[in-house]
Amino acid sequence: MAWADLLFPKTCPCCGGELREGQEVCDHCASAVLYNPSPHCPCCGVSLRDCHCHQRPRTYDRVVAPFYYEGAVREAILRMKFGQREEVARFLAGALKKEIEARYFGREFDVLTVVPMSKERYVSRGFNQAKSIAEFLLKDPPTPLKGAVPDYGLLRKSSNEGGSMQHLLGAAGRKQNIRDSVTLGKHRELEGKQVLLLDDIVTTGATTSECAAILRLGGAAGVSVAAAAVTRYRDSFPGKTIQESSKRVEL
Ligand SMILES: [Zn+2]
Ligand SMILES: [Zn+2]
Repeated sequence: MAWADLLFPKTCPCCGGELREGQEVCDHCASAVLYNPSPHCPCCGVSLRDCHCHQRPRTYDRVVAPFYYEGAVREAILRMKFGQREEVARFLAGALKKEIEARYFGREFDVLTVVPMSKERYVSRGFNQAKSIAEFLLKDPPTPLKGAVPDYGLLRKSSNEGGSMQHLLGAAGRKQNIRDSVTLGKHRELEGKQVLLLDDIVTTGATTSECAAILRLGGAAGVSVAAAAVTRYRDSFPGKTIQESSKRVEL
C-alpha cells in the first residue's frame, strides 16, 4: 500500500468499499456501526444500559471501548485478520484516541502495552492486531498517552493455553493453565508506573484480568484497559463462559 493511501484512506475499513473524501466508513456501514454509549460500567466497559457483569472484583482500574463488537465494527475487526490491517487499525485507533482522550482525561500513562499473543498464533497470523492498533494510536496520541513509552513485549504468552492437555484438566486446572500462560517480560521495571493495556476486543475480561494482575505483581501502580470493541452479551464475568464466549468471536 502506498504511503499516500495510508494517510488518505480510500476504502471503507468495514467492507473495503470506496469512500468519499472525508468519510471514515461508507454510508452503508455507517448505519451498522454500533457505538458503546456512556455512561459505562468500569468493570466490563459495556454501557450501563447493557451491562450484566455484576461488577466482580477486578485487577484493573476500568475498561474503555468506543464500539460494540457487532455489525460493521465486527466485520472490520475480522477483515484485519485477512490482511487489511492498515485501514482497519487506523480507523479503530482514531476512535480509541477520542475515547481515551475523554474517559482518561487528566491521566498520564507511563507505559502502553498490549495483550500478548502466543508465538504460534503470531506465526500463523503474521501480526498482532492489538499492536497494530497501538502503533497507529501512537502516531498521533491522545493527551493521556503523550508521555507513554510503548512496550509491546512487556507481557508474554506461552503457547500452552488450550493445548492438547487442556481437556485432561479439571475446571480449576484449566483456570491455572490460563493463568500460567501469561508472564512478565524479563528485566522490566514497573514500580510506581501507570500502564495502559490495549486489546482489540474485550470479551469475558478473563484475559484482561490476568494480564492486569501480572502487571500489578510486577509493581505497576495502576493498570487501565482500552479496547476497540467490547461484547455486550455475557452470562458471567469473568467466570464460567470463557470457552463459549471465545467461540463466539473466533472465526
Ligand atoms: Zn463499508
Ligand atoms: Zn459491567
